[in-house]
Amino acid sequence: MITHTGFAADVQAMRSWHSPEGSRLVFDVDKPIVYNVFTLSNPARIVVDLKHSRFLAKVPSPKAEFSVIRHIRTGQNDKNTYRVVIEINESVKANAFQLAPNAQYGQRLVVDLNRVNPKPDPQLALVGKNAGSQVKNSTNSNAKPAQQPKNKKLIVAVDAGHGGEDPGALGKRGTREKDVVLSIAKKLAAKINKHPRMQAVMIRKGDYYVGLGKRTRLARQYGADLFVSIHADAVKRRTVKGSSVYALSDRRASSEMAKYLAKKENAADTLGGVYFADKDDDVKSVLYDLMMDNTKSESIIFARDVLHEMSKVGPILRNDVERASFAVLKSPDIPSILVETAFISNPQEEKKLKNQKFQNQIAGAIFNGINRYAEKNGFRVLAEN
Ligand SMILES: [Zn+2]
Repeated sequence: MITHTGFAADVQAMRSWHSPEGSRLVFDVDKPIVYNVFTLSNPARIVVDLKHSRFLAKVPSPKAEFSVIRHIRTGQNDKNTYRVVIEINESVKANAFQLAPNAQYGQRLVVDLNRVNPKPDPQLALVGKNAGSQVKNSTNSNAKPAQQPKNKKLIVAVDAGHGGEDPGALGKRGTREKDVVLSIAKKLAAKINKHPRMQAVMIRKGDYYVGLGKRTRLARQYGADLFVSIHADAVKRRTVKGSSVYALSDRRASSEMAKYLAKKENAADTLGGVYFADKDDDVKSVLYDLMMDNTKSESIIFARDVLHEMSKVGPILRNDVERASFAVLKSPDIPSILVETAFISNPQEEKKLKNQKFQNQIAGAIFNGINRYAEKNGFRVLAEN
């Protein structure tokens, strides 16, 4: 028998996630832990001291895409302190905090190692080349929006749901939504990039979490004309199957967005190519609402085109677009849809979701839907309305 006397907390497991912003270490603990985080140099390393704790976790490998970590070693430092030493490859800013238990995990200590000098985002450079997209990228409130050049590509933001600490829905066989949707998203992006008049930007490029608000902010930074979020559904009843496509329906969305945008005046000045800077607040608010209404109805048309194409490759759950108030669908000037590709809770569909051929079919159907909508608009979505 193991006695817990003298130990305040057990570290039961440890995970790491790596993103373009840096690395995140997560310690699963059985209760809140007393800790201290500090930096040492030569070699550059971050020290996490865990007080009065037993360390029962397996240390994760730091070798991964986007990792800032060279090596992690652990050991008893003194009678009361267990020490985790993280050797790093580049300068980082460490930020540690504890999280209370949620549906997925128990108590956690999170140590973020954020890059001090993040590499420039290659997708931003790509979009920069695609002249005209600065319309949505402008932070200069005095700049008049640029004219859209004829050869501007249609930029499609592809958003793989969940990621990192958030696995999304889980199948009975252990399939994780975050993995299958990233795989489908990559296939979709590849198809979009083969089209001469379209360019894909990936909102999440690996197994890390991106906040919901950040997903729409990134879409804006990339100058996205369309936004497609990819998910896999789950319900208790395992027989339910089929794809569905969602567009925004929230009466509150428009006024919430207007408030949000009002705060971000500078960035919002050139929303959708409409020049707001010289309008007074009442006029702005009316313009925002008009724009939001227009974007909402375009989103439904877009969603129907995608649903139509998806019905050709598999069962669909209902015959029309679903309406919901998902946060990622609330961009006021980017027609946005959310695709639930299939039910990960249905054993047959879980099996299909893991299958590369099915993933490719689904990606193909979404692509055909995007193309169908884009062709109707001559590859100019909202920008010149
Ligand atoms: Zn999901």
